[in-house]
Amino acid sequence: MNISKQTIDLGDRIAIAKRIDAYMHDNSDAMIETLACYVNHDTPSRDKTLLDALSRKIEPRFTAAGGRGERIANAQGGDHLLIRFGPESTDTDSKPILIIGHFDTVWPAGTALRRPFRIDRGRGFGPGSYDMKASVVVIEFAVAAIRDLGLDLARRVTLLLGSDEEIGSPESRPHIERLARRSEFALVVEPPTADGSLKTARKGVGRFRIEALGKAAHAGVEPEKGANAIVELAHQIVNIPSFQDLSRGTTLNVGLIEGGSGVNVVAAHASAEIDARVSNAAEAERIERAFASLKALLPGTKVVVSGGFNRPPMERTAAIAELFDRARSIAKSLDLDLTEASTGGGSDANFTAPLIATLDGLGVPGAGAHAEDEHVILEEIPRRAALFALLLLYL
Ligand SMILES: [Zn+2]
Repeated sequence: MNISKQTIDLGDRIAIAKRIDAYMHDNSDAMIETLACYVNHDTPSRDKTLLDALSRKIEPRFTAAGGRGERIANAQGGDHLLIRFGPESTDTDSKPILIIGHFDTVWPAGTALRRPFRIDRGRGFGPGSYDMKASVVVIEFAVAAIRDLGLDLARRVTLLLGSDEEIGSPESRPHIERLARRSEFALVVEPPTADGSLKTARKGVGRFRIEALGKAAHAGVEPEKGANAIVELAHQIVNIPSFQDLSRGTTLNVGLIEGGSGVNVVAAHASAEIDARVSNAAEAERIERAFASLKALLPGTKVVVSGGFNRPPMERTAAIAELFDRARSIAKSLDLDLTEASTGGGSDANFTAPLIATLDGLGVPGAGAHAEDEHVILEEIPRRAALFALLLLYL
C-alpha cells in the first residue's frame, strides 16, 4: 500500500468515525431507554421463562438492524441467540468476526422490582447493568448505525448471545467453540476493567474437590475402630498451598470445607472445595497432575479427588497483542486512547482465546459487577458503541 492511499483511507475512517459518533449521540436517549428495559427484566441463568422472554424482546431488534436471527434451543435453560450480519456465506468468503455476549445475570427473579434501573449523577444503576446488559445495547446500536448510515461491513459478523455465562456457559460453550473455529477473531463484550481497559489476558479457572473417606466409630467407647476423615482432610488441606506458584500467576484457595456427623463420632466423611487460577496451560496441567497424585496419609482412610479446569487460561498471544494494537489505532479516530489489562476472572473469552485471537472488555465502563451498586457510566455508552461499530468496520 502506498502512502497516499493510506492517507486517503485514514481520512475516510476519520470522516466515518465522526458520522458514527454523531449517530450515537443522537441516539443516546434511546440507548438509555433500551438499557432500562433490559435491566428491568430479570434474567437469572437458570430461569428459562424469564430468559426466553427477554431474548424474544432482543431478537427482533437485531433483525431490524439487518441481522438473520436463529434461536439455539436449550432445554436446560434459556435459548441462546445466534444472529448473522453481512452477506450469506460462500465457501470462498473470508471468515467472519465472532461477537460473544450474554444476557443472563447473577441476580434472582424479583431483583429488578426491588431495585429497578435508576440514574444518579450520570450513572445507570441496576442488576446486570454493567455485566452485561449495557454491552447488548452497545452491540445493538453499533450494527444499527452501520445499517442506518449505509456503511459496508468489511467481513461477515456472527453474534452469539448466550443465556448461561454466569454459571460457566455449560450449554453455550460447545456453540462458542464451534463458531470460534470458523471465525477470524472474537470480540467479547464483557465489561472493561475499572479504568476502562480492554482485557487481553485472563486466568484459567479450576474447581477441585477433595473427599476424605474414613470409618465411623463411637468416639468414647471404641475410637480405635474408627478412621477420622476430618483429620485426613486436614492433612490434605495444609499441603494445598505448596501447589501455588505466585511467580507464574498460579493461586489456590481452599474456599469450602465440611465434614463429620457429630462431635462424639469419629468422622467418616469430610470434603473441601478449592478454587485454582493459572495464567498458562502448562500450569493448568501441573495443577491437575498435583491433584490427581494426592494419596491418603492416615491408615483406614481414602481420598477421592474430582474436578479440573473448566475455563482454560486466555494467554496474551502475539495474535491477541496484534489485534489489540489494531483496535487501539482504530480507537484513535474517536480520540479514545485504549489501554489493556489482564484479570484473574474468567469469561467466554477463555473458550475462544485458545482457538482464535480474542479481545475482551469491549462493554461499557462502570463498576460493581455482581454487587448491589452495579452501574455503568452513561456517557460512555455512545462512545463504546461508536468504537464497537468502527471495530466491525475496520478490524
Ligand atoms: Zn458477564
